[in-house]
Amino acid sequence: MPAVEYHQAAQSPPLRIDMENLNDANKCDFCSAQCCSYITQQIDTPTTMQAFDVLLWQIAHHNIHVFKDGNGWYLLSMSRCSHLQADNRCGIYETRPMICREHSTGGCEFDVPIDQGCELYFQHYDEFEAYCRKRFRTWDRRLEKFEAARAKEAAKEKAKLAKKK
Ligand code: SF4
Ligand code: SF4
Repeated sequence: MPAVEYHQAAQSPPLRIDMENLNDANKCDFCSAQCCSYITQQIDTPTTMQAFDVLLWQIAHHNIHVFKDGNGWYLLSMSRCSHLQADNRCGIYETRPMICREHSTGGCEFDVPIDQGCELYFQHYDEFEAYCRKRFRTWDRRLEKFEAARAKEAAKEKAKLAKKK
């Protein structure tokens, strides 16, 4: 494979990587610390329209993604660790948390970016809503139904109060 240009950081000049000599021991030198640039949190498997509606609200926020892999569903927040140094090295390497110690360079995000290694990956509101619409036949009627149920509940409360007077 020929050498390719890789941009280590926005302001750094591009580095030349000899792809033939790239290995698990040296690839961090050419990486923008992809594994330290996001966090994930596993969530209950969404099954109802209401649960997907909550996820839709969450993904509407900047840098929040949703994905599903073989272990289940996750929220992902794109956010660089505050301990990352300007050279993309860990500033607390000796005392870094256990989860960082467990992470290995073998088959890491440098080889397979997180959005390419899972079953489903959503970055934007519109793509997630399109998935929900496909999954639930009545997706577009859910808000109407929700408001109708709320109006019914409010009318019931009003009638109750009127009876008491
Ligand atoms: S472990 Fe992988 S993703 Fe993390 S800094 Fe090294 S090469 Fe990049
Ligand atoms: S503590 Fe260090 S190794 Fe862990 S995510 Fe932050 S920069 Fe990366």
